[in-house]
Amino acid sequence: MASITIRYKGEDGHENMQLADGRSILGRSSDNTIPLPKEGVSRIHCAIFLQDDEWFVEDLGSSNGTKVNSDKITEVTALEERDVIRCGPARLTFHVKALKKRKKQREKLYPEHTVQANDPPESIQCNSCNGWLSITHRLPGDRMRCPKCDTKLTIPLLIPHDGSASATDENKNTENPNDPLHDSSELVL
Ligand SMILES: [Zn+2]
Repeated sequence: MASITIRYKGEDGHENMQLADGRSILGRSSDNTIPLPKEGVSRIHCAIFLQDDEWFVEDLGSSNGTKVNSDKITEVTALEERDVIRCGPARLTFHVKALKKRKKQREKLYPEHTVQANDPPESIQCNSCNGWLSITHRLPGDRMRCPKCDTKLTIPLLIPHDGSASATDENKNTENPNDPLHDSSELVL
């Protein structure tokens, strides 16, 4: 379930609206799913909708455009927790309470690392010197220093290699282009 908190520029107070699981149309007209009755908002301004477990916003040819955070959108745009959608003077803060988003927040506390077939067991590779460090008995999110080069490291959550490749794994890989190489480095204990 997702909702938006509606504020208007220069006004106090706010209003919370649940988003329908289908498509909500937002605009100045009172016929809309979510009316935004203010000058500067087009009669039919934008749509927020759920598709394949993801939320999106789409501008519907509004005069002043729709922004997500500070960027004017030119195409259907995926929404993240706490994104701010701007329609003229309206500021809509997006909130979603889905399992997927909770997982995302958890990932921010510590990185995840998918174990490769040739990795030493319960070890991570220093992202500075590429040496291998044993992380047995350490918890994800713990900090330690590389015994070899003294770089500060955050212990990642190790994801077993045999986990089936999922969309989440693909996302992670694109978010971490600097993922260290997994070959031929000595094990540092
Ligand atoms: Zn190191």
